[in-house]
Amino acid sequence: MNPETRNEVPPTLRVIPREQHSISRKNISKAALRVLYRLHDAGFAAYLVGGAVRDLLLGGHPKDFDVATDATPDEVKALFRNCRLIGRRFRLAHVVFGPEIIEVATFRGTGEEGGEGDRHIATDGRIVRDNIWGTIEEDAVRRDFRVNALYYDIADFSVRDFVGGMQDLEDRTMRLIGDPDQRYREDPVRMLRAARLAAKLGFTIDAAASAPFATLGHLLTEAAPARLFDESLKLFLGGHGLKSFKMLEACGLLKFLFPATARALERGDNALRALVEQGLANTDARIAEGKSVTPAFLYAVLLWGEVRDQAQGWIAQGYDVNEAWQHAAVRVVGEQCQRVAIPRRFTFTMEEIWSLQPRFEQIHRKRVFRLMSHPRFRAAFDFLLLRAPESDGMRELGEWWAHAQQLPPEMLAAALGGGGVPVHEPSTSSSAPARKRRRRRKPTGRGKGGSGDA
Ligand code: ATP
Ligand code: MG
Repeated sequence: MNPETRNEVPPTLRVIPREQHSISRKNISKAALRVLYRLHDAGFAAYLVGGAVRDLLLGGHPKDFDVATDATPDEVKALFRNCRLIGRRFRLAHVVFGPEIIEVATFRGTGEEGGEGDRHIATDGRIVRDNIWGTIEEDAVRRDFRVNALYYDIADFSVRDFVGGMQDLEDRTMRLIGDPDQRYREDPVRMLRAARLAAKLGFTIDAAASAPFATLGHLLTEAAPARLFDESLKLFLGGHGLKSFKMLEACGLLKFLFPATARALERGDNALRALVEQGLANTDARIAEGKSVTPAFLYAVLLWGEVRDQAQGWIAQGYDVNEAWQHAAVRVVGEQCQRVAIPRRFTFTMEEIWSLQPRFEQIHRKRVFRLMSHPRFRAAFDFLLLRAPESDGMRELGEWWAHAQQLPPEMLAAALGGGGVPVHEPSTSSSAPARKRRRRRKPTGRGKGGSGDA
């Protein structure tokens, strides 16, 4: 190992034999076991590593299984027909079993750093290639947290702990491997990983690992926006979104990812806080039920406060309502994407969800039917419901639209002042629920809050 890049004490090995830990092969995916056994049978070292070992030891169900080996990527490829190599400099093998992918990484040396940042050039300007591969000890110390550096050995089913990860699992604490300042400077995204994993596992972040957030958090603004988008998905759409959000805020890191959101919340906008927290809680609940979630909805939630305030500002300056919302959306999205690169397909949907909001206040026969047949009606309506804490009027508006969807179209048309269902309306998928639910509930009373009481 290169002494210039690591200043911690050399790792000491603790081997926990099969009978002294809780990892059972029946909790490891069949695909991962096949990869481990094939490597082992071919004479290579083969370990389950990283989050999977950590989660198994904690009694959880890992969502993916990573393997580490001393076989080179080419050697791995030669062993598996269903294998492709990815990455240019540090190549990884992906062994594909239907929908499941087992990532197989060759032990990585400590000769160069940069996390996922793929730097080709060492600090002295040399192009480094020769010491990319390393020993298992080197592989262990270049990982981020001690709980993430445990190895499950398929040869004897023992767990190998080079850096004290078992202790940290017991203490339920996230500790960094090596010098915190140095590790965060190498890769600032590790700060986000600390917050995310602590939230997910219910661990505390060790004081030494959290102290640099205040001084180094700003380095996150230099991280690649595309990578931060990936991280933000893991934070908010990984099933622990609300906890992750609160942890990010408590760590003082939210402002580097979502500056506008952090500002609005710091101003004490309680309705916004309720909306954001409820939006995250709903997303977590949907994920727990195995339902689909759209990132667009969640980012629309996170940025709502800023968009709304800016739109109101433009309207106050005399802009037309639609134009004001468009302006606001474009500006807020533009600013946000400099930090977190939300792909266009999502920002487009976000802009639609936002710009439909003022249209909920226009309760006229034709407009109601037109809005209901908009392809984004469902998402925009769910969003409207989240806005209930803004005011009584907003809550009533949500109730009105919920009720309107239960009504058969003819009755809704009658409730809106008669004249029948507007005929030109295209029957799109989003108008279908209104008809399908026709049987369920008898309409009671007339649309409350009838004329846009928000
Ligand atoms: P999750 O439960 O979200 O999958 P994880 O710890 O498995 O958590 P991954 O992104 O899957 O996270 O990474 C797998 C492993 O790779 C980690 O456990 C850690 O050992 C190592 N690792 C990932 N990112 C970094 C990083 N930025 N710096 C150092 N090591 C990292
Ligand atoms: Mg993982």
